[in-house]
Amino acid sequence: MDYAFTQDQDDLRAHARELLDHACPPDYAERCDNEAKPPREAYDALAKQGWFGLAIPAEYGGTGGSAIDLAILLEETGRHFEELAMWLFRTLTYGGYAVLQHGSTEQKNDLLPKVARGELSFCFGLTEPNAGSDAAALTTRAKPVDGGYAIDGQKVFTSGMDISDYCLLVTRTTTGEKKQHGITNFLIDTKLPGIEVRKIATLGQRAIGTTQVFYSDVRVPASAVLGEVDRGWDAVDSYLWYERLCLSAARTGAASAAFEYALDYAKNRKQFGKPIGSFQAISHKLADMKVMLDVSRTLVYRFAWLMSEGKATRSDAAILKLYTGETYKAVSDMGLQILGGYGYCMEYPMQRFFRDSRLAVIGAGTSEIQRNIIARGLGL
Ligand SMILES: Cc1cc2nc3c(=O)[nH]c(=O)nc-3n(C[C@H](O)[C@H](O)[C@H](O)COP(=O)(O)OP(=O)(O)OC[C@H]3O[C@@H](n4cnc5c(N)ncnc54)[C@H](O)[C@@H]3O)c2cc1C
Repeated sequence: MDYAFTQDQDDLRAHARELLDHACPPDYAERCDNEAKPPREAYDALAKQGWFGLAIPAEYGGTGGSAIDLAILLEETGRHFEELAMWLFRTLTYGGYAVLQHGSTEQKNDLLPKVARGELSFCFGLTEPNAGSDAAALTTRAKPVDGGYAIDGQKVFTSGMDISDYCLLVTRTTTGEKKQHGITNFLIDTKLPGIEVRKIATLGQRAIGTTQVFYSDVRVPASAVLGEVDRGWDAVDSYLWYERLCLSAARTGAASAAFEYALDYAKNRKQFGKPIGSFQAISHKLADMKVMLDVSRTLVYRFAWLMSEGKATRSDAAILKLYTGETYKAVSDMGLQILGGYGYCMEYPMQRFFRDSRLAVIGAGTSEIQRNIIARGLGL
C-alpha cells in the first residue's frame, strides 16, 4: 500500500493552490458571501487555466486525470472557498461525469469540449417538496409530445439554477411497479419558456445558494434525454457516488481552512498572560480537529482510489459522506468556540464555516440516511 502522492499530483496541488491564492483570496470569499455574489471571477480563472477539463478524456479536450487528481483539485478549491468548489463540482459531475457515462455520441461531442473549456455550468434538479430523503418518490412529470417531451412539476433546492446553463433534471416518465422504475433524466436549458426560478433564503451557502424551480409545460426535444428513458435511476445513483467524492474532498478542504484559522488564532490570542492554545481545553480541541481532518483526508483519497480501481461500494460512499460532513460541522463548531465572542461576529470568517458546514450533514443525503446505508451494508 502506497500512501504517497506522485510528483505530478503534488505539482497539481501546488498549481491549484497558487492560482486560487490569487483568484480566490479569503477577502474575496467573504465578499461573495456577504453580498450574495457568485464567485464568477474565480470560476472563470479556473476555466482559463483548463481545470474544468481535468477529469475529461483527451479526445474531448480534457486532460484525462484520475479520481485522485479530481479530489486534489476539489480539496484545494474547498480550502479557498467551499461555494466555488460546489459550483465547480456541479459542472464536473452533471456536465462532465454524467455526460461521459450516460450521454449519446452527439451529447458527448457537443457538451464535453465546452465543459472542458469551462464555457458551461450545470446544476442538478432531483429533490422535490415531497421527495427529499425519499428522492425516488419524485413526481415531476415528463410526458411524450410531438417532437419531444412536456415537463410539469416542482423542484426544490436546485442549487445554482439561476447561474447555470443546463440542469440535469430527474423526472418521472412512467409510474412503474417500483418508484425507482420509470425515471428519466434530461439535460435541459435553464432558460426555456415555462421555467420559473425563485431564490430560497438560507442560513449558509449565500454566494450562490439554492432555488425553488417551477416547470410548467416546458417543451424539450427527445435529444435532451440523458441515458435511457424510464431507466434513469441507476444513473442517478452513479452521479451520487461521484458527487460524494467531490463534496467530501471540497468539505475536507474547507474544514482544513477553518482548522488553520483556529490554530493560528489560538497561538496568537492571549488571555491570563498566555496564548489560549496553551490551555489544555483549547489545545485538546485542536488535537481532536487535527485527528478528524486526517481521517477525513484518508477517507477521501481511499475512496478516490477505490473508485478508480472500480472497487468502491455504496457503503464506502456513505462512510465517506457521513464522516467528512460530520467532521466539517464539528471542526467549524469547535473553531467558533476557540475564537470566543469573535467567532460569533460576522467580521470574522469562522461564522461562515459554521453556517456553511451545517449543509454538509443535510444535503446530498443526510447523515441519518448515510447511517441507514451503512447499517444495511452490515445486513441490518
Ligand atoms: C442548501 C441546500 C442545497 C441543496 N442542493 C440540492 C441540489 O442542488 N439538488 C438537489 O436535488 N437537492 C439539493 N438539496 C436537497 C437535499 O439533498 C435534501 O434537503 C436532503 O436530501 C434531505 O431532504 P429533505 O430536506 O426533504 O429532508 P427530509 O427527507 O424531509 O428529512 C427530514 C429529517 O428526517 C430524517 N429522515 C428522513 N428519512 C429518514 C429515514 N428513512 N431514516 C432516518 N431519518 C430519516 C432526515 O435525516 C432529516 O433529519 C439541497 C438542500 C439544501 C438545504
